[in-house]
Amino acid sequence: MNRKQSISIILFLLIFVLSAAGCGSDKREELNRKLQEGEVLLSEEKYDEAVIFYEGLFNAHQDSISIMEKLDYSRVMSTSREHLRKAQEYMEEERYEEVYEELNGVVSTDVKGQERKDEIFSEIRGIYVERAKKLSGARLFKTAMKELDEYLGFVQTDFEVEEMKSEILAESLVPLEPVVEEVKKVIVINPGHQAVQDKEKEPMGPDSTELKNRVSSGTRGVATGIYEYVFNLEISLKLRDELVKAGYDVIMTRTTHEVSISNRERALLANEAGADLFISIHANGSEDRSKQGIMTIYPSKDNPYVSELSDEFMKLSTVLHDEMIKATGAPSAGVKAMDNMVTLNWSEVPATFVELGYMSNEEEDLLLNTPEYQDKLVLGMVSGIKKYLDDKTP
Ligand SMILES: [Zn+2]
Repeated sequence: MNRKQSISIILFLLIFVLSAAGCGSDKREELNRKLQEGEVLLSEEKYDEAVIFYEGLFNAHQDSISIMEKLDYSRVMSTSREHLRKAQEYMEEERYEEVYEELNGVVSTDVKGQERKDEIFSEIRGIYVERAKKLSGARLFKTAMKELDEYLGFVQTDFEVEEMKSEILAESLVPLEPVVEEVKKVIVINPGHQAVQDKEKEPMGPDSTELKNRVSSGTRGVATGIYEYVFNLEISLKLRDELVKAGYDVIMTRTTHEVSISNRERALLANEAGADLFISIHANGSEDRSKQGIMTIYPSKDNPYVSELSDEFMKLSTVLHDEMIKATGAPSAGVKAMDNMVTLNWSEVPATFVELGYMSNEEEDLLLNTPEYQDKLVLGMVSGIKKYLDDKTP
């Protein structure tokens, strides 16, 4: 080989090397450009596309470790996000157990995925806790605990939820205060007499051979000319209204004058009603026109029919008498024992018989028939009834 030949070979080789080097640098540039394209996909979190992209790149440059790393990373992230997507889908369908399974596939390197995972976890926790609260509020303790158990089944441990469970359990063991339904006391008001007296007879008391008119005529106002049965009903209706206002159940033996109910029948009505109190309303009459005042009547201890109730009836009659005197300032005509009162003799419930005043006394007759005085009488009766019944209730 001469020198010339040698130079040309060297030149040739040089050109070859240079051209090869030039070609190599072109390829590297293209690879760098492609790697940047991949980075853009990753920064945009387009992991699925990145996988396809890096797979293509890896097929062309299998020797590149950096491409392989990027491909692995893209695959892991793509799978992680797929789990998150599915979790969100199941969330919509309230398939919480499956949501949890999917979320377990979110990898720790997927920071954003982890954030979303935590949000979903706390959302699910809130749903179960709220449900349990509502259920235990409705005293559906077992169902409430089942809800929390279901939740604990996903998360394995949650101290607060477990504490909530034991609170619900404790609450379920406390018996409910029994709901005491307030039973209203029953008062039977008997407005004495009726439009037409009834001279048919009835027994004075149970097993009695002694007879008495079914209903007598009653008295009549000397000044007003008002019949007792009219006055009795008028004030009885006022008494009824006030007692209802005070919270009592009130039964009237009559609300009109045109009835035919004997005294015995009126007492039986109170017995059947199981009345807490039976009050007969009357006005008094006397030959002695100077007589005035309020009287209440009870059966004596020697009463052949209701002697065992004498004390109780006296107690009621006394309270009522005292409260009426207090309310009206009227004179007292006494708390009297009488054994010929059919309504008392047939009564099996606490009963009294009130004479609100003397219609045979001009002054009192006029007074009895004024609304103001009637209001006072009613006030006194309500006060006495309340006092008596409240004292009886322990
Ligand atoms: Zn009378």
